Amino acid sequence: PPLYAKRYRLAVETLTKYDIKSVIDFGCAECHFVKHLSSVSCLEAIALVDINKELLVSKQKTIAPELRHFIFKRKNPLHVSLLAGSAEETDSRVSHFEGVTMIELIEHLYPDVLQKVTHNVFDNIKPRLCLVTTPNSEFNVLFKNADPNKFRHWDHKFEWNRAEFKSWCEEICRRYNYIVEYTGVGLLPDKETHHLGYCSQAAVFCLNHQRVFSQSLSNEHFSLCYELIAEADY
Ligand code: SAM
Repeated sequence: PPLYAKRYRLAVETLTKYDIKSVIDFGCAECHFVKHLSSVSCLEAIALVDINKELLVSKQKTIAPELRHFIFKRKNPLHVSLLAGSAEETDSRVSHFEGVTMIELIEHLYPDVLQKVTHNVFDNIKPRLCLVTTPNSEFNVLFKNADPNKFRHWDHKFEWNRAEFKSWCEEICRRYNYIVEYTGVGLLPDKETHHLGYCSQAAVFCLNHQRVFSQSLSNEHFSLCYELIAEADY
């Protein structure tokens, strides 16, 4: 399967493993992930959030159930909402959600925005589980015509090596009381390239329940700052 499908599979497996009932997917872009998420049986609510409202409006039909969803009905109902807004802020409709995914989002953010997003996710929402994926720059040498001065995509603001990603993750754990595990997707079968790591690196953050210092803020603390584009029920 292509790399994006492997990232979705990792996210689906992680949400299933931790029995997550509600998830916010920040930076949902074309909403492709919803096709995979809608078959996760433990989920009851999915919020797809992206700052690009025009894109969401043009892709809103993507969230509608397909024929297979009518034939193979879910045991528990699932509500999907598509919301235009920034991961820098929290809307009261999602502030209590248990899980957050940020798939290939952080490398699109300037440092000041990334800092706000990090604070919003780990201090305001405080999800039980958060999955983050981002390119591993060490892998780039394997690309055809590799240019060390170029990123994989024109809109990337940075691409981190494993040490840089780890230091960002560890700072989150220290500040916001999380435990992290590193993983990734896109390892090549050729063992000689394994020292470079995964093509997409990933971190799975779990709230450290052993040492919870502060309670999550209640929904009333947040306003309706996202714009609802579409909704669907499965
Ligand atoms: N997660 C998508 C997937 O797996 O198909 C890909 C994400 S795409 C590479 C990055 C997305 O992040 C873009 O759609 C962009 O509009 C969105 N984005 C950028 N800044 C954002 C922000 N502050 N809050 C929410 N989304 C943002």
